[in-house]
Amino acid sequence: MVENRKQNTTFYPLSSIVNKNPMDEIARIRERTDLVSFISEYISLKKMGRNFKAICPFHQEKTPSFIVSPERQIWHCFGGCGKGGDVFTFLMEYENLEFVEALRILAKRAGVELRESGFERGISSKKERIYILNKIAMDFYHFVLTKHKAGEEALKYLIDIRKIDSKLIETFMIGLSPKDGTSLSNYLIQKKKFKKEDLIEAGLAFYRGLSTGQVRVLDFFRNRIMFPLLDQRGNVVGFSGRAIEESLSSGKYINTRDTIVYHKGSMFFGLNIAKDEIKKMDKAIIMEGEFDVISSYGIGVKNVIAVKGTALTDNQASLISRFTDNVCLCFDQDDAGYEATKRSLSSLEKKGLNITVAEVKNGKDADEAIKNDPISFKKSIKQDVAVYDYLLSRILSIYDKDTIDGKRKISVNFLPIISRIGNEIVKEHYLRKLSTKLDISLDALVKEMEKIEKKEAINIKENIVSVKKQSLTRREVLEEYLTSLVIQYENPKIVLEKANHTLSNYEFETLSYGKVLNHLLIFLKKSPVFNSRNFLETLPKELLATYDTCFLYPLPKFSDTKHSEMEAVKIATELRVLFLKDKIKEISSNLRSREKEEDIKKIEVLEKELSSIINLLSEG
Ligand code: ATP
Ligand code: MN
Repeated sequence: MVENRKQNTTFYPLSSIVNKNPMDEIARIRERTDLVSFISEYISLKKMGRNFKAICPFHQEKTPSFIVSPERQIWHCFGGCGKGGDVFTFLMEYENLEFVEALRILAKRAGVELRESGFERGISSKKERIYILNKIAMDFYHFVLTKHKAGEEALKYLIDIRKIDSKLIETFMIGLSPKDGTSLSNYLIQKKKFKKEDLIEAGLAFYRGLSTGQVRVLDFFRNRIMFPLLDQRGNVVGFSGRAIEESLSSGKYINTRDTIVYHKGSMFFGLNIAKDEIKKMDKAIIMEGEFDVISSYGIGVKNVIAVKGTALTDNQASLISRFTDNVCLCFDQDDAGYEATKRSLSSLEKKGLNITVAEVKNGKDADEAIKNDPISFKKSIKQDVAVYDYLLSRILSIYDKDTIDGKRKISVNFLPIISRIGNEIVKEHYLRKLSTKLDISLDALVKEMEKIEKKEAINIKENIVSVKKQSLTRREVLEEYLTSLVIQYENPKIVLEKANHTLSNYEFETLSYGKVLNHLLIFLKKSPVFNSRNFLETLPKELLATYDTCFLYPLPKFSDTKHSEMEAVKIATELRVLFLKDKIKEISSNLRSREKEEDIKKIEVLEKELSSIINLLSEG
């Protein structure tokens, strides 16, 4: 038997804390925060019966499966991610916050003053400790570069060769990691009293075994120009270090390895500095590297951030969509830059962002272009073109549109790009443009594109079906549905008794559904008029998550109570049939090894019941 299949760690962790320690601060925040209007500040909710519905912000989906209950002030996603919780967990998930951070924000919003006790001191936060550690490391590196003798050479390189002045060095808190490989670790451990493990966990140091059998701690970054990586709220999450002496043994750039606060591909370099300008200009210019961003900032183009040499991820697309709907890609003018533009497209399209491209002239990247001709650079930023125009002209420049082979190659490259455009008008615009350029009828292009779309649709469908097949059996699906039908029924007594009668000695695959229904049955025997608050008081804490999920489960609309009652009995019957079949299978596989008379009798009884149910079903 399968115990609660979705072992989701983010599921309602707080309800239990709150119920155990009735902290009036949290209770007051809850009272003064309406979950529906709070979530509406982040995503758009649509009313659906007594609940609200939306596209889930925590995973990619096309049909909304994110449900919010104003009554119970909880949310749950019935799609791929299965996440759920209350106002605290929503904010933590959405902004990637610790509980204490979410608490502070919600307290401020609700006008509740937090006492200095309790959570502030009580919950020690690993993430917060790493932020503090990284902040000290940032100051240390910055000091070495700007004030220490060891920084002289690097400072000269930055100012004279890279043309980064001291004001920019301050703004971006650029630093230098010393050559010797132990300075930072020693400073943090001896002067600042951090533990070795803290340094390792922050990605600032690593262990090295010595021949004597001892273990030493060494600095992760050595002799590199250090760019601190800050998230949009200003926490130092990691570093990227550029080698000063380029050697073959280590890369030109290395980044902090993944830690609990730094995840590759989920942040932008410079967002903390650029975010206000991005909002003001209502546009974000996305570049490849740190130097590109800093140089651009230096000439007054300040709504700039960097992906750091890779294509944009879904995470980054949804992060930037919180600040603006307009994104301008300003990648290097080489094949890698072109590929990065193409690969960034689908993540940005999914978020419905307007995408343009600024072509970098007079240099291999923005940094070089700015040094060579800042005025021309500013002009190309202003003259950014729609990404599809850019891609089309790039493809047209590669193949010969006057030969048949060229026409085929151009359409093979460009049609899949057009087919993913969300807006039909924009889509048709580019189809027509392609038709004119290639001198091929619109009909032929549409036909080709439909072939491509069909292929993609089949791929997507197969993916969904295989995911569902892997994760749930039919019985598990029906058990969740039945429990939801009963729980969401206004007066569940009659429907539950009927379903229970049909189920008879059914054994639940997902035990928690069976347990919730059992508790409800016992409760209703004592108090036949259902009151959800009284019931929840009697329900064991570990079943609360199951109850809440079923409470939010998106049920179809039934015309009247008779219909939903009939549905419940129908589902109970199907479950009974599946149960009998599984039982018969189980016993007969035993039988094959050792024939037993009582087993044969058991099967006979089960088969009799099964055929009588099936007869009943075929009659009515
Ligand atoms: P610079 O301007 O410092 O001379 P560049 O312009 O030649 O470097 P690229 O090699 O084009 O830099 O890389 C662009 C960006 O990609 C870098 O700024 C850096 O953020 C990131 N990057 C490059 N290589 C790596 C790597 N090995 N690991 C992590 N990030 C990298
Ligand atoms: Mn560069």
